[in-house]
Amino acid sequence: MAYLDNAATTPLHPEALAAMLPFLTDRFGNPSGVHAVARDARAAIEEARDTVAAGLGARPGEVVFTGGGTEADNLAIIGVHARRGGTVVCAASEHHAVLHSCQALGGRLVPVDADGRIDLDALAATLDDSVSVVSVMLANNEVGTVQPLAEVRAVVAEHAPRAVLHTDAVQAFPWLDVATLAAPADLVAVSAHKFGGPKGVGALVVRDGVDVAPVVHGGGQERDRRSGTHNVAGIAGMAAAVRATVAARDETVARVRRLRDRLADGLQAGVPGTSETGDRATKVAGNCHLRFDGVESEALLILLDEAGVCASAGSACASGAMEPSHVLTAMGIEAADALSSIRLSLGPTTTDDDVDLVLKVLPDAVARLRR
Ligand code: PLP
Repeated sequence: MAYLDNAATTPLHPEALAAMLPFLTDRFGNPSGVHAVARDARAAIEEARDTVAAGLGARPGEVVFTGGGTEADNLAIIGVHARRGGTVVCAASEHHAVLHSCQALGGRLVPVDADGRIDLDALAATLDDSVSVVSVMLANNEVGTVQPLAEVRAVVAEHAPRAVLHTDAVQAFPWLDVATLAAPADLVAVSAHKFGGPKGVGALVVRDGVDVAPVVHGGGQERDRRSGTHNVAGIAGMAAAVRATVAARDETVARVRRLRDRLADGLQAGVPGTSETGDRATKVAGNCHLRFDGVESEALLILLDEAGVCASAGSACASGAMEPSHVLTAMGIEAADALSSIRLSLGPTTTDDDVDLVLKVLPDAVARLRR
């Protein structure tokens, strides 16, 4: 089998599993208590906080552990809006966790270009003194486009100087030096399961001086920014995955980029009527997004699955009909073309054998569907 859906989720890193096991067995304390078993769990949380903070270029006190990337994005946008009111602005290509939070607050969307990069002039035109939150993702989940966050910050500083900048770095963390690239942002969201950690745990960096109202109310954990008993095993697993990802990142990016290029070039050479979405030079190394003219992506995904290849498409089934991905539509891609596109997302565990299998079975699958 070739698993090429790493943007959806990644396998648990062995070091993450090893870090989690003690907290699923002997070290079961609730970190909010006062006794020795609780203190042991609390020490583990604080050690993990130090590791996650270092990986994100933040101070430990700026890290808020959450129940995943969606919750981190919601806390950033809804939490700041609850304190400051005003208008929320985000790129039209954001993940639904950001897009729907922004839309729920009546926010404004900023267009992106044909490669998925935010239109900085349109951003400037959208901003005014009423804007309290701007959210622009570091790397896109469907097409891998990396946004110029420092340039976004400069535009925000000029046209809405009081606004805070949030970045969803969920898809960036496996590939990019988020500690440096997300430095212009006041709020930074990550999710453990995208980089070898467990599902259901993430973090939001809230820089000192930025005030977020809690979205989840209760016992006041995480300095009253996110209530609920800590997912101790999950947090320990995320910290181990942060450490493993950062230590191997340069080597992983170089290796996976070579595999991705071989895959993208091989498919375009081997399947007539194939084109690539996004700019390969500026997208993350693990993303390969291809369109096969005249082929329905859902049917192709089924044939690939039968042949042992796991891939995905950004389209969604709404009221019985396939709806094109909002990301591709925002990039100006026609609905029919968007519905002929698939995402093959590579990860640290992807091998040459995986690429060989896709290069072998995909041309046949496309030919069958075109017959
Ligand atoms: N943001 C982006 C860019 C994502 O790709 C995802 C996951 O698909 C999320 C947010 C949501 O993260 P989680 O699955 O941890 O809720």
